[in-house]
Amino acid sequence: MRTTEDSYLHKGMRKKLVDSIREKGITDEQVLSAIMNIPRHFFLDSAFEKQAYEDRAFPIGEEQTISQPYTVAYQTQLLSIKPYDKVLEVGTGSAYQSCVLGDLKAKVFTIERQKKLFDQNKKFKYLEKYPSIRMFFGDGFDGLPTFGPFDKIIITAAAPCIPEKLIAQLKPGGFMVLPLNEGENQRMLRVKKELDNTLVEERFDEFSFVPMLEGKRG
Ligand code: SAH
Repeated sequence: MRTTEDSYLHKGMRKKLVDSIREKGITDEQVLSAIMNIPRHFFLDSAFEKQAYEDRAFPIGEEQTISQPYTVAYQTQLLSIKPYDKVLEVGTGSAYQSCVLGDLKAKVFTIERQKKLFDQNKKFKYLEKYPSIRMFFGDGFDGLPTFGPFDKIIITAAAPCIPEKLIAQLKPGGFMVLPLNEGENQRMLRVKKELDNTLVEERFDEFSFVPMLEGKRG
C-alpha cells in the first residue's frame, strides 16, 4: 500500500533531506526546490516512509531501485533544464526522477523495459499532477525515434557504452547525461553534441547504478 498523505512530519523530513543534499554540493536551487516539492514517500510502500527521506537508493521490486536523492539531484543539475525542454529519460523505475524533471517544467519522455514497473506507474495517481510526463514500455537503447530529437537525454541505469541511437536522437547543441561503466562503478558523463555534430565529453564523479539491460521484460 502507498499513502497519499503528505503531513508536516513528512515535509520536515524532506527539508532535512534537501539540507543534506545541499551540504553534499548541489547548488541549483530549482533542483533543490523540486526535491522539496515532491513527496518521495509516495513512491514507496507506506511501510518504508522513514526510509524515503534518507539519502539512499531503495528497492522498488523487480530487482530495481529508486535512485538516491543526491544522485537524482546531481544528474538533474548537470542537465540544466529549461522550461519546455524535451527530455528523454531511460529507466523510468519509480518515476521519481521523471517527476523531478516534470517539476522543472520539462516535457518528459520516459522509457522502462520492465512491464511490471511500467504498469505500476500507469496506475500511479500522483503522476496525474504531471501531465507533461509521457511513459513508454520499451528498450532505452533504441530511444524513441518518432518523438525525437530531444534537447536533453538522461540515462538512469549503468550504461555499457554511449548508445549510438540515442546520440542520433539528440538535437545539435543538446546533451546527454549518463553513468558509464568504469571498473566496478560508473563515471558520470555529460556528452554534448556540438552544432557540427561532433561530441564533447565531460567527466564527473563516480556512482553505482543498476545495469542498463537490452530488450524488454514481461
Ligand atoms: N529513474 C529511476 C531509476 C530507476 S533504476 C527512478 O527515479 O526511480 C533504473 C531503471 O532502468 C530500472 O527500472 C530498470 O528496469 C531500467 N532499465 C534498465 N535498462 C533499461 C533499458 N534498456 N531501457 C529502459 N529501461 C531500462
